[in-house]
Amino acid sequence: MRGDPPGWHDLILEYTDKMRALGAISFYTKEKYGALVIESIEYTPGADVKGIQRLVEEAEILSECICQDCGEPGKEEKISDWILTLCANCADSRRSKSYK
Ligand SMILES: [Zn+2]
Repeated sequence: MRGDPPGWHDLILEYTDKMRALGAISFYTKEKYGALVIESIEYTPGADVKGIQRLVEEAEILSECICQDCGEPGKEEKISDWILTLCANCADSRRSKSYK
């Protein structure tokens, strides 16, 4: 989880618990085009793979509405050619720093 967008930590923690409960052993998370990506999932034998994949999709959809910097409601923003999910405040502060 180190290096994940701080605004998504609660979301990632919540879905880590939910995915573990269905039999996911480990997985990687990253940010891509303003959405959370969960990949390289390892399953226990007998894991609810379909259920886990549904959770992965859910988390990805939710992440597109959560500011990745602060966790407030956010939306897709384009900053210096990067697509990020940000609230208005974080989008402004990233633009004013001309974040790259
Ligand atoms: Zn924000």
